[in-house]
Amino acid sequence: MGRIVAVTNQKGGVGKTTTSVNLGACLAYIGKKVLLVDIDPQGNATSGVGVEKGDVQQCIYDVLVDDVDVKDTIKQSKVENLSIVPATISLAGAEIELVPTISREVRLKKALEKVKDEFDFIIIDCPPSLGLLTINALTASDAVVIPVQCEYYALEGLSQLLSTVRLVQKHLNHDLMIDGVLLTMLDARTNLGIQVIEEVKKYFQDKVYRTIIPRNVRLSEAPSHGEPIIIYDAKSRGAEVYLELAKEVVANG
Ligand code: ADP
Ligand code: MG
Repeated sequence: MGRIVAVTNQKGGVGKTTTSVNLGACLAYIGKKVLLVDIDPQGNATSGVGVEKGDVQQCIYDVLVDDVDVKDTIKQSKVENLSIVPATISLAGAEIELVPTISREVRLKKALEKVKDEFDFIIIDCPPSLGLLTINALTASDAVVIPVQCEYYALEGLSQLLSTVRLVQKHLNHDLMIDGVLLTMLDARTNLGIQVIEEVKKYFQDKVYRTIIPRNVRLSEAPSHGEPIIIYDAKSRGAEVYLELAKEVVANG
């Protein structure tokens, strides 16, 4: 049975998509069968694994709003063992269109149940909000990965995220766990990064992954080539750390 993991933080630009794409690709690289599910209307995870949005006929929007079978939307990525359910800008309407529908919070969970057995991991790249799309992701998931950028105000907004997680645990998904908090974009040249690491560890204690993602230019270049880092530059520091993270996530199992 596949493990479903949502990568979430309502703050934008903290490394959710970079982590979804590269954790997914590195899990595939070490032999796991992985499905990446893009539920951000920006569709950056979709293009990040080499799927052209122009080639997408049906996406996660059609699954959530029109009950299209998720199997009919799955595309092979550039990485062996890594498939994707793509998102296009049509998804931007879903947040509002889902409001009056029946069982609006459990639509993604129901859709993924049909494919859960076919994958070892299903990774969901969440949008930067705590709206219905993210609630669907939390309801469908076994665990969450929370990327936190090593910057000023790193902890800002996290109490709101945690209270959303608790609400979902209480009302929609008792089994939801926090797999880990991932420190991202560390600039090792500054003291600020070290301070943030200490602060986040004080708050989340053993929930913080040992792997810390540094700032790495190759990681920021890879998306424009439609390639996860393990394909774009397998020897880069970025590839090394995301492989480390993949192993940690497997060990948390
Ligand atoms: P989110 O999905 O949370 O909005 P992204 O993963 O898209 O965040 O990251 C925001 C920006 O930062 C992107 O341009 C991405 O390429 C860049 N980025 C993310 N992680 C790193 C990193 N470790 N090193 C350098 N650039 C990064
Ligand atoms: Mg993103």
